[in-house]
Amino acid sequence: MRAVVQNDKNRVVSAMAALAAVAAVAVVSGCAGPGDEAAVRPAAGQQAHRAAAAPDDHAALVAAARRWGLDAVPLRPPAPPKRKPTITARDGFEVDGQVEDDLPPVFTTIPTRKKVVFLTIDDGAEKDPDFLRMMGELHIPYTAFLSNYLVKDDYGYFRRMQAEGHTLNNHTLTHPYLPGLTYDEQKHEICGMQDIMRRQFGKAPTVFRPPYGNYNGDTLRAAKACGIKYAPIWDEEVFVDHWEYREWDRSLHPGDIVLTHFRGRDDWDGTMVDDMRRFLNKVTRDGYAVARLEDYL
Ligand SMILES: [Zn+2]
Repeated sequence: MRAVVQNDKNRVVSAMAALAAVAAVAVVSGCAGPGDEAAVRPAAGQQAHRAAAAPDDHAALVAAARRWGLDAVPLRPPAPPKRKPTITARDGFEVDGQVEDDLPPVFTTIPTRKKVVFLTIDDGAEKDPDFLRMMGELHIPYTAFLSNYLVKDDYGYFRRMQAEGHTLNNHTLTHPYLPGLTYDEQKHEICGMQDIMRRQFGKAPTVFRPPYGNYNGDTLRAAKACGIKYAPIWDEEVFVDHWEYREWDRSLHPGDIVLTHFRGRDDWDGTMVDDMRRFLNKVTRDGYAVARLEDYL
């Protein structure tokens, strides 16, 4: 049943209501694109989920979705691809020497036909324990891009994330506008963060995101010199009260990378949990599951 999270009065969801919900999703998805596949996926995904999960697991997920105030249980992502997709720089996002010098590609979407999106969370200012609990109970994978000046007061918070299987990646030492810096200064920002991550988290990442999504040729050359292989940016950004889209169609696409930030009430009108509720409700409503970025890299 999709409409599992309701108030108590509606706890008993009739089969008719559930069918109506699926039909409504089908109508919406049908307008959006290669119709039939999109229209059928949410229901099929939900069945696959129910079949795959032991009854107790499913009951726990339903309970967690209700506890965190979600409209529906998040869809379970498909198994990771056996063969990783080939990732190249997005058209128009290359720099001189991109291919010849094998520079880390900048991209906004992972090439896949699966209805998955990837959640990436930047900077590291807010350290909300409820966020960790929510994502753990709902089994939602995500990737964090950390900037040292924001995380150095509590590396332990991010170690907990790492212990739960989430990947920590490089977002520079001080979050500067990199194209305004020399090659050496950029290299210091990126390699310096690699060193800190190796010391604090046991491993230097191979994934890096330039602050603000701004970079130039020196950025990618410096990143490569520091051991970076990928420089994903994003196709959508979710805030606590709205979404922003890179594309004109203002919708999610298979493989899209979604950005949000570790922010709380100091920065916007809500908590990390509120932000994640907005993210998950839309993703699930549109028939997408959240998959693990590193499974595709
Ligand atoms: Zn940032």
